[in-house]
Amino acid sequence: MADIAQQQKFAFADAMNRIYAGAIFDIDGTLTVRGDEFIPGFMIDALAELSLNVPIAVCTGRRLDQALDRIAPIFTRSKNPIYSEAQWVFICENGSVGYYFDEVNKKYIEFHRVNYPYTEEQRHIMFNALKERFSDKTDECFMNEVSMVFRPLFRQDPNREALRKRSYELGVLLTDAVAEFDPKRLLSVSEAGIGVNISPVNGDKDKGVLAFAKFLREQKGYAIDEEARDILVVGDQPGSIGNDRMFLNGVYGTPFTVGDTVKGKIWPLPVFGRHSTERLIGPQGTLSLLQQVKFRNGFSLL
Ligand SMILES: [Mg+2]
Repeated sequence: MADIAQQQKFAFADAMNRIYAGAIFDIDGTLTVRGDEFIPGFMIDALAELSLNVPIAVCTGRRLDQALDRIAPIFTRSKNPIYSEAQWVFICENGSVGYYFDEVNKKYIEFHRVNYPYTEEQRHIMFNALKERFSDKTDECFMNEVSMVFRPLFRQDPNREALRKRSYELGVLLTDAVAEFDPKRLLSVSEAGIGVNISPVNGDKDKGVLAFAKFLREQKGYAIDEEARDILVVGDQPGSIGNDRMFLNGVYGTPFTVGDTVKGKIWPLPVFGRHSTERLIGPQGTLSLLQQVKFRNGFSLL
């Protein structure tokens, strides 16, 4: 353990000295306070400014329309809304589908997709069976383009910890239940604090980091190494069934957590205040990290 702590210190020093090409964020619990629906005003202001200078992506369990609900206020706040919108990449459905905004035609272009590993009929059969089996534990569930989502009861519960616990428990139950329908283990069940995603194993959030790297190379002409270390990755749920477990595992990008930590692992790195050794969480942590790192064009949020 002591060795891991030492290695994490080196990795942290390296990460803070790196010059980043862009940043990719989880939404819930990372840009929002965990359990909250909306991104706080200070985060919207910071991201509006950042998006005039740096390519940014979100990587979320949400569908495109649900992610846009949260991110669109950032474009509105920007001094150049269309330009800001074209700086954002949306990796949705837990890493399975990716879109960028075409500035000329003013529409979203799908540039990344991992297919569901079973037939559409099998997908419907599993969804309906799970919906019926867990009808006393979920009051909102739906199928997306590729993924499906089951939300725990009482999503508006002001007791966020209780909501989070229900989401986790539903995740554990669904992990076992999905295994019955997935003999080849091609599906991933993960939990985001407000709901549970079921999506292809080979389309998890780590593939979102690679898709963003591809976008930067092909659409922006950036040189990005194969492991995409110059992409800053920020999420909050790296735990065993958390939906950032692949996003923040350190295989691609340079990952930080503003939520849960993982014992005995170098990645993800913690976020500390600018002048303190206190760990920061949620949007406060994300903002502080963005203020402390440097980007390729010399841009700094401070
Ligand atoms: Mg999250």
